[in-house]
Amino acid sequence: MVERQLVPRGIADRRVLEAMRKVPRHLFVDEPMRERAYDDSALSIGEGQTISQPYMVAVMTELLGLSGEEKVLEIGTGSGYQAAVLAELAGDVYTIERVEWLSARAGEVLRSLGYAHVHLMVGDGTRGWPEFAPFDRIIITAGAPDLPPPLIGQLAEGGTILAPVGDRFSQQLLKATMRKGKLSKEFRVPCVFVPLVGEHGWKG
Ligand code: SAM
Repeated sequence: MVERQLVPRGIADRRVLEAMRKVPRHLFVDEPMRERAYDDSALSIGEGQTISQPYMVAVMTELLGLSGEEKVLEIGTGSGYQAAVLAELAGDVYTIERVEWLSARAGEVLRSLGYAHVHLMVGDGTRGWPEFAPFDRIIITAGAPDLPPPLIGQLAEGGTILAPVGDRFSQQLLKATMRKGKLSKEFRVPCVFVPLVGEHGWKG
């Protein structure tokens, strides 16, 4: 996966490549999907949701520019795979999922692999997790109509928020950095994510 999919497409951050070599992606998908776990595609994890394509996980992780100590908030735990990759590269990882059983299953896998610094919550991630704010990095792994205002409010000075932003069917990865209380935004890679559903996302 790393040599055939990530390196040839330009993923160059050694720490990201090492983390993706290390995290056992097959443990984050159901038994019948395991032989396809390292394919160059997103895979179904149930409930109409997906574990993102490895390349997309790598691009997003690289864009976050993690150095080891950051406090990270992820919206959309899904399988827990992205959270595990983040946990290899940052400090505490807070991850929110709206589907209770997905969060429970992800929590089991993450605990079994020893990721004690990944903290899971069930709820509407568009509201963020104010008790633990501010966050150095925020990553949304579902497609949003725009950046949810509560998440912008929970971003630390100098921090980065990354989200697929667009319509329900196609988005662009938006990277925004907070400098002196203002967000500077840049659009990156085109992408397709399942919708971010919530108070500050899509309705239903
Ligand atoms: N990061 C995940 C992984 O590594 O497997 C993939 C995430 S999947 C593409 C998107 C996830 O976002 C789904 O599990 C979906 O239920 C969740 N989601 C959608 N809206 C949400 C919200 N408002 N709050 C929390 N989770 C949400």
